[in-house]
Amino acid sequence: MIAQKFDYIVPASLGDAVNLLQKHGHRAKILAGGNSLIPMMKLRLAAPELLIDIGRIPELSYVKEESGKIRIGALTTHHLIQTSDLIQRRLPALADAAGLIGDIQVRNKGTIGGSIAHADPAADYPASILAFDATIVTLGPTGERLIPASKFFLDMMTTALEPNEIVREIQIATKSAKVGSAYLKMAQKASGFAICGVAAVVELDSSGVLTNLGIGITGVASRAFRASKTEAALRGQKPSADILKAACEKASDGIIALEDIHASGDYRLDLARIYARRAIQAAIERAG
Ligand code: FAD
Repeated sequence: MIAQKFDYIVPASLGDAVNLLQKHGHRAKILAGGNSLIPMMKLRLAAPELLIDIGRIPELSYVKEESGKIRIGALTTHHLIQTSDLIQRRLPALADAAGLIGDIQVRNKGTIGGSIAHADPAADYPASILAFDATIVTLGPTGERLIPASKFFLDMMTTALEPNEIVREIQIATKSAKVGSAYLKMAQKASGFAICGVAAVVELDSSGVLTNLGIGITGVASRAFRASKTEAALRGQKPSADILKAACEKASDGIIALEDIHASGDYRLDLARIYARRAIQAAIERAG
């Protein structure tokens, strides 16, 4: 299908883009990589009258480490995240997730800001964003807002973003302890989207005790979630195979799973338990 007629504008700065959003309200939409928005427009699931193309604002694409944080600009592509030396060294689960998104064309155009603003329940990044306890920095008419990841993903394709706000940056605090992280997924074969994807971030002390951990799960429910019961069961433990298996049995406790032609709800819940164990094991190996 062909998208409904729309106007198109390229703002010179993020501030201009916010002003345009403020002026045009629900009639306007931000365009970043266009990987998700354009197909939705072609299917007439979205019909904005104005596209505000932020894809050419150069200062929004970066990965840098500053004052104990890794800062990732909203327009940084999946490919740049996958291949960033800093991300590979400090946040390998995020590099894993980026490298598993779609194919090379998708990774060259798609952006981290677009992906998390879109909040597809099967998107890869949200698992890592939650597991790393990231902060989402937005810009709106009244200035910046810092939203913790735990409060950002509200439901299927619904986030805490206000209609006149733009994602500016993702911040992840760096840790000095012995840290490892990994992201693993069972992909839907045609698109690559996650049927289940799990990011694990572990902090260990010198004797191998898990002092802290974050486990984010995507693809299973209407929004990505933290496996809080598994995290609590493992905190303070030196995880043997049995301890890890028992803790991961709780990974999808209380979750209402999605069901579709790709996987039943029960299968997704089971994948969450299995992939949680594998992702934690991989993260521990990396920390070692
Ligand atoms: P756009 O499509 O431009 O925008 C998406 C939405 O976010 C729109 O509503 C837009 O208004 C809004 N938006 C964009 N940027 C901002 C911002 N900075 N602030 C506020 N709102 C903003 N994703 C996966 O996670 N895993 C996969 O395996 C995967 N496979 C894919 C396979 C194919 C064939 C395709 C086409 C896409 C796939 N994707 C997958 C989705 C891809 O990752 C997209 O890049 C991503 O979902 C959207 O990013 P974008 O930059 O293209 O955003």
